[in-house]
Amino acid sequence: MTNFRDIEGLLDERTLRFLGVGGHEHRMLIGENWIDAQDGARIDIINPATEQKLGSIPAASADDVNTAVNTARAAFDSGSWARARPADRERLLLKLADLMERDALVLAQLESIDNGKSAQIAESVDVTLAIGFFRYMAGWATKIEGGTHTVSALAAPREAEFSAFTYREPVGVVAAIVPWNFPLLITSWKLGPALAAGCTVVLKPAEQTSLSALYLGRLIQEAGFPAGVVNIVTGDGSNTGEALIRHPGINKISFTGSTKVGQLIGRAAMDNMARVTLELGGKSPVVILEDYDPEQAAAQAAQAIFFNHGQVCSAGSRLYVHKSKYDSVVGQLANLADTIKLGHGLDPAHQMGPLVSKRQMDRVCGYINIGQESGAERITTANSTPERGYFVQPTVFASTNDKLEIVREEIFGPVVVAMPYDDLDDVVRRANDTPYGLAASIWSNDLSRVHKLVPRLKAGSVWVNCHNMLDAAIPFGGYKMSGFGRDMGRQSLDAYLETKSVVMAL
Ligand code: NAD
Repeated sequence: MTNFRDIEGLLDERTLRFLGVGGHEHRMLIGENWIDAQDGARIDIINPATEQKLGSIPAASADDVNTAVNTARAAFDSGSWARARPADRERLLLKLADLMERDALVLAQLESIDNGKSAQIAESVDVTLAIGFFRYMAGWATKIEGGTHTVSALAAPREAEFSAFTYREPVGVVAAIVPWNFPLLITSWKLGPALAAGCTVVLKPAEQTSLSALYLGRLIQEAGFPAGVVNIVTGDGSNTGEALIRHPGINKISFTGSTKVGQLIGRAAMDNMARVTLELGGKSPVVILEDYDPEQAAAQAAQAIFFNHGQVCSAGSRLYVHKSKYDSVVGQLANLADTIKLGHGLDPAHQMGPLVSKRQMDRVCGYINIGQESGAERITTANSTPERGYFVQPTVFASTNDKLEIVREEIFGPVVVAMPYDDLDDVVRRANDTPYGLAASIWSNDLSRVHKLVPRLKAGSVWVNCHNMLDAAIPFGGYKMSGFGRDMGRQSLDAYLETKSVVMAL
């Protein structure tokens, strides 16, 4: 049954209008048209806090994906975007950011009812960072440059003269595949550099959380982007996603999600020699040195794992505390976890919402059971969770066994394993003993030891006295099985550009 009467009073009028009376059948954007899937197939949108249906989205088939890719190709080849003046690309990206700012509340509420996260946090973190990122990338549109080269031409006669230079050109049609944990923010990480570079895009949001992308599609039209520059196809991974990554018309795939799907996408990309950026899973260590205040350490470790309910690729899910402070930090962390107030994300009094789906809740609860059965000590109280909704109690395990499944595998929920360590050599070895390498944080005021530790941690981001500190200008991505390439920063723009070398005999 479709119903959001119980949350209606908490939603802005514009959000309600977008959701539609009685549960809207949303459409996807191809070219300038909002359309259904050709075969009429649909996927229900479920509010994870209430388990109620909020409407539905089209389940795009391979034919729909083909239409979207061909539309993006035609828009690219027309030059309306790729050869637009860089200042015009900058202006439209800035305009989009302004429209997002105007509708920040709506975007935040859509994230909340789709994903379960707090609307207040979505507005101050997800939406604010996405707007900032579009503005940052808008600035790059006018700063794309090649170089000039003096040619040695050793095989040519000495009197021959050459002029040589490089162009940077947009790579072409981009497939952007986004997960459900930060739907709008991660969309901005893909669209921002692609559009600044002059690429056209087929965006596939996660099937669980497509609303903010569809709303963004409206803002993209309102801003005045040429039709076909951004196309949005909705649907699941095995049908819509597969059709997109295997389409020969795609020049670049940018993906964030699980390592398993990332590997599959990397292989598919090579069949068509599509360029590829993969931002994948993690099992990031939080390392507390012995000089750090235990109360602060507990509060920060709680933030590092419980932010976004642990559904963060760089979540601090392995907590290493020096043995001299271990009992104090872990005891306080468990107390903090036990007092977190669970409830739907539209009420700011609730500190943690539900997980995104029943599947994710079952997966995380499965790991909690595995942890208990494998001998780790669950030191948080198994309090009851709200009757309806996909809630999971924040959970702290204590263990001395680094080989446990809950220590090695990405759980992607509010579950942390705390472990004591002896000295720096011990913690470096254990922090790096993982297939992943996305992020790590170090907590200490001993600068000398911090500087010695940073280069020894095998991770794409190392935070010191902070965790999950993302910035538009700073590249983010993984070592090892955590991915390939970087989102954000200038490096992400480079990944949407080809280099053309021109050598001219004079
Ligand atoms: P997923 O990797 O399956 O999905 C992410 C995106 O990829 C979604 O848009 C999905 O539709 C799409 N996709 C899935 N299979 C595809 C395929 N074969 N071809 C093309 N696109 C495909 O993630 P999930 O199943 O939603 O979550 C499973 C686990 O993945 C989580 O428990 C978590 O461990 C991990 N995860 C990591 C991140 C991250 O940011 N690193 C994000 C989401 C999930």
